[in-house]
Amino acid sequence: MKSEEIKNLIVRSFSEKKNSHAFLFFTNNIARCVQDVTEIIRQVNCLKDGSVDCDCNICNTIRQETNPDVISLSPDGKEIKTNQVLEIIHRFSSKPLISKYSSYLIIGADKMNDGASNKMLKFLEEPEGNIVGFYITDRVSGILPTIKSRCELYTFNYGIDSIYDLLNITEEDYQSFYSETINLVSKLNNTPKFLLMADSKKIAQKERVEIEKILNLIKRMYIIKYESITLEKYVDHEDIQEVLEVIMTKDIKIIVKRINLLDNIINEFKTNVNKELFINKLFLSWE
Ligand SMILES: [Zn+2]
Repeated sequence: MKSEEIKNLIVRSFSEKKNSHAFLFFTNNIARCVQDVTEIIRQVNCLKDGSVDCDCNICNTIRQETNPDVISLSPDGKEIKTNQVLEIIHRFSSKPLISKYSSYLIIGADKMNDGASNKMLKFLEEPEGNIVGFYITDRVSGILPTIKSRCELYTFNYGIDSIYDLLNITEEDYQSFYSETINLVSKLNNTPKFLLMADSKKIAQKERVEIEKILNLIKRMYIIKYESITLEKYVDHEDIQEVLEVIMTKDIKIIVKRINLLDNIINEFKTNVNKELFINKLFLSWE
């Protein structure tokens, strides 16, 4: 089943009051699964019709992650600890404050330690009318079978985006510019600036639109690096590993600075006549 169909099925089960109190989602993409589950929680609790752009108080607070009736847990270090799940048990000992249901997400449910698993098992054994649990994992074998047996099980499988989609370029542009750009990005790690001047001459001979494509590609590569650090994305994406490795710094401040610099250069480049001057400016301002 596609994720869209699963979402609809679950939302419908709530409107027909035939819903389970616990769901276990097996997925190959935790981050996207969390988005889909959050969307289920939003639709199920919405005060209006659950439409995408609904601006009711419940939808807004769920989107802003400020809804008091939604708790989301992920591993604190290597595991999900007992005191973390106790927060769910304590906070949900009374009725939901503003929503129809009290919802909890356990992200990386296979990472619950023994203490946490046993607490949650007890909690699942005494289901309360309006508490709903969403367990998310990429490793079903790590879930206590007794927990698993109390959940409705679904698989959320997401296709992996192609490298062209990730880099935001066409296959043709990829063939034309990718290796050249990777080389340039590699040089930009630590090549002395005076040596880069030879490159700027070479690049300046290209068409304006080609230069823009290269600059945009470098920027996109840095955004991918940024997301890999801050959102832990792309770990399973083999095609993109070269990009992640070629940008050597892991310093978020430097990465953001470079993305902003590229942004400015790309914008100014559109109106400036002298191509070489602008590429030199990029290299000289590069930190
Ligand atoms: Zn709403």
